Amino acid sequence: MTQGALLANLSIPNEDVMHEFGIRLAAVLAPGDLVLLTGPLGAGKTTLTRGVGEGLDVIGTVASPTFVIARTHKRKNSDAPLVHVDAYRLGSPAEFDDLDINFEKSIVLVEWGRGFANQLTDSWLDIEIERDHTGASEVRNVTINGFGERFNTDTARDTFATLTGGLA
Ligand code: ADP
Ligand code: MG
Repeated sequence: MTQGALLANLSIPNEDVMHEFGIRLAAVLAPGDLVLLTGPLGAGKTTLTRGVGEGLDVIGTVASPTFVIARTHKRKNSDAPLVHVDAYRLGSPAEFDDLDINFEKSIVLVEWGRGFANQLTDSWLDIEIERDHTGASEVRNVTINGFGERFNTDTARDTFATLTGGLA
């Protein structure tokens, strides 16, 4: 089991800040990167992805991929697309393989991906979004862990400290 490193823990007060976090996250993502998003329905996974999409200059809008498993978004200034996956209805890693995603040449972001998508690559980001259980607050607690050679490093820790500075 690959060991993860805590890269950041944030309190995101509202949708706009979640979007902004996505834009900033996009700045550190490169072709080959995999981001797994975990959190209940309405947590803000798609909101975060929309911010990433804006940061990556994707063409068109990022929407919830609930009715398709994966959607590929081309970008204005890069050949590496954003592939947005909703793994909610995927039963096994084998089904993930069937999507035939070119991981090396894409930036892949997977909603509900924890548990099996991490067998696809050596390095990944695991982002958990938690809602206030009482429902009294819109604040989301966001925990980012880095796994593997690319993200479980001091450099990644520094990068995320800078990236999230002043955000929440
Ligand atoms: P998911 O993809 O996790 O099901 P969505 O991003 O589709 O979630 O929806 C999140 C909903 O919660 C949106 O309606 C958004 O406006 C709302 N919201 C309220 N507070 C926040 C917050 N702090 N961060 C993200 N979304 C929030
Ligand atoms: Mg969603």
